[in-house]
Amino acid sequence: MYKISLITGDGIGPELSDSAISVLNTIHDKLDLKFEITKLSAGDTALKETGKALPDETIDAIKKSDVCLKAPVGESAADVIVVLRRMFDLYANIRPAKSYPQMPALRDDIDMVIVRENTEDLYIGKEFSLGDSAVALRVISEFASKRIAKYAFETATQRNSMKKVTCVHKSNVMRLTDGLFAKSCSEVAKNYPDIIFEQMYVDACAMNLIRQPEKFDVIVTTNLFGDILSDESSQVVGGLGMAPAANIGDNFALFEPVHGAAFDIAGKNIANPSSFLLSLKMMFDWLGAKHNDSKCFTVGEKLESTIFNLVKTGAKTKDIGGSKSTSEFTADIVNLLY
Ligand code: ATP
Repeated sequence: MYKISLITGDGIGPELSDSAISVLNTIHDKLDLKFEITKLSAGDTALKETGKALPDETIDAIKKSDVCLKAPVGESAADVIVVLRRMFDLYANIRPAKSYPQMPALRDDIDMVIVRENTEDLYIGKEFSLGDSAVALRVISEFASKRIAKYAFETATQRNSMKKVTCVHKSNVMRLTDGLFAKSCSEVAKNYPDIIFEQMYVDACAMNLIRQPEKFDVIVTTNLFGDILSDESSQVVGGLGMAPAANIGDNFALFEPVHGAAFDIAGKNIANPSSFLLSLKMMFDWLGAKHNDSKCFTVGEKLESTIFNLVKTGAKTKDIGGSKSTSEFTADIVNLLY
């Protein structure tokens, strides 16, 4: 029995959470993998109701769980996810971008993953005022850079792909910070002679993601660049509605969609739940590896292939060119999981 904590979030978060709960309940009942789900509050609604975007009870409940699922939260995202990433030392943010059938995608042979450092860089939001200026601190350490580089090379080793790591930075301008990141990745690369290692400036990477996305396998980069490039890579394969993410540490992990709370479509029952359901697939893989539980891998594969097969039939939500509502798409998945 796995204890799953679930932050239901803001905007489309509650709709995506309902979809995830339906799918988890089906897996629990029909595929015999057992969970206990605890719904938790964090984000804008929590801030309004309790005065805290990340209430203490939520943190306590997450600590008692085996794994955390997080639907998107709104304006207070930085006070929730950035804090959780650092609190649980979830240093690796894993964002796959993979071609699925029938997508409004650039090509159909894309299979890459962005490995984003998750604990440092400008994204931590350490800012202050100085005279008439505003200053942001960008801290990059050798420890965190080597740690994420190792994660990227291990990922490339395990993937059934072209075995290539592209280190993305801007060391020609930020010579010290990005220079250290690039140097750390190069040093780690020496331990992986069977993996192709290349370096790319972030502007060139942004262009190449459009020009030749099929050439990427594993991208390793710093926190802010990873945030931006992963929105781009998800659009390249069809859009944010299909983009899952994992935040992984040595002892704990949190899974969430790449996208935000999407207030423009909230409450309309049109959001694509695939981003969250594919995050469940990543959760199953992580649980399987951590607990040596082959059933988790089987269930994860089944869930991904079910989504794959469903969209292949043209049954899709509006964002990717279909007409299914969130609840209809979820019901289709649930039926196919039997
Ligand atoms: P954040 O800065 O918090 O990441 P954002 O301002 O970039 O958020 P998102 O909430 O990520 O915006 O959404 C960007 C656009 O993508 C929105 O217009 C939204 O409608 C669309 N979108 C995002 N997620 C989904 C989804 N699951 N299904 C359908 N459309 C989505």
